[in-house]
Amino acid sequence: MKKIEFFKHNIDEDDIARASNVLRSIFLTTGEETDGFEREFAAYTGRAHTVGVTSCTAALHLSLLALGIKPGDEVITTPMSFCATSNAILHTGARPVFVDVEPDTGNLDASLVELAVSERTRAILPVHLYGQMCDMKALRSIADRHGLFLIEDAAHAIEASRDGIRPGELSDAVCYSFYATKNITSGEGGAVCTDNTELAERLRILRLHGIDRSAADRYQKRFMHWDMHELGWKYNMDSMQAALLRGQLRRIDGLWEERNRLWGRYENSLTGLRNLRLLKTLQHVKHARHLFTALVPADKRDIIVEGMQARGVGVAVNYRPIHLLSYYKKTLGYNINDYPITEAMGAATVSLPLYPKLTDEEQDYVVSSLKETVETI
Ligand SMILES: *Cc1c(COP(=O)(O)O)cnc(C)c1O
Repeated sequence: MKKIEFFKHNIDEDDIARASNVLRSIFLTTGEETDGFEREFAAYTGRAHTVGVTSCTAALHLSLLALGIKPGDEVITTPMSFCATSNAILHTGARPVFVDVEPDTGNLDASLVELAVSERTRAILPVHLYGQMCDMKALRSIADRHGLFLIEDAAHAIEASRDGIRPGELSDAVCYSFYATKNITSGEGGAVCTDNTELAERLRILRLHGIDRSAADRYQKRFMHWDMHELGWKYNMDSMQAALLRGQLRRIDGLWEERNRLWGRYENSLTGLRNLRLLKTLQHVKHARHLFTALVPADKRDIIVEGMQARGVGVAVNYRPIHLLSYYKKTLGYNINDYPITEAMGAATVSLPLYPKLTDEEQDYVVSSLKETVETI
């Protein structure tokens, strides 16, 4: 039987050599290699500063903390995401307030956001779902009208733009993930980018306990006492992670081209089928092409997932709605019918393999397997 992985990474021999060099050196944690990655990632994303951290969850948590989000505050976000997004809000003691999504894109519906603003609201945290950016201009003007911070979850959207605007361009901070299945990866890893120099400095202090000197400073420079001014976390990106990412970052546009080509092939072969709906890529959008999802009849979705797996095709569900996860229902009192568009999407969605190493032949097999399973239901 064929076996088609849901995901394959793009770490190559040069990346491994670079990481090996780090391992052969004396200094393994945050240092020159991390500095190099941060400079290069800032250049790629077009932001003034990059702060490398251990995950996107950490990036979101630190951004919220650095902007002063605290217990009693509310942060508006989407229930159609990985739970890391709203967990980061909970970690600060604030409350995530969900707003439903657009049926055509799955992105936070900017036209509903203002209705959710209360006197406790401090920030909006949109997620650029599957790689297509939310309407940042609309969200920026809502944030301005109500004096709110804007923090982007761009875990899917490193390469994205919309109306010429990149992630981070209209917000206070933008957070990225280099988790094992993301477009570029170091297994675990993340980054915050911002144009705000003061915020970047605060993020650097908060990612390392709240102390005022980095490990590299302490190790490599003349001895100086350090001090701790506030309680921080332990979220600094190490040199091996940075080394693995630098080469992938140089190849990132070519990797995107290949996913974009595969995306087009999926759209050509899956458009207009009975029992299958695809999301839209809007005009003037560069979609980062992170996850390709198909929407199937909700009552048959799990059977279709099983059918794909039985044919050796790796698939995933991105995502079941966050507000219906047991913890969220139990602690925040959310329930079924609270966010109907998200719920309909979450019950219908199936993600298909999409990565540069996927061959056309393998993709054709994914398509025929999906057609078969959808037709036999
Ligand atoms: C993967 C992901 C995260 C979490 O990233 P980590 O680096 O694993 O913490 C957050 N948000 C979204 C939308 C994701 O897909």
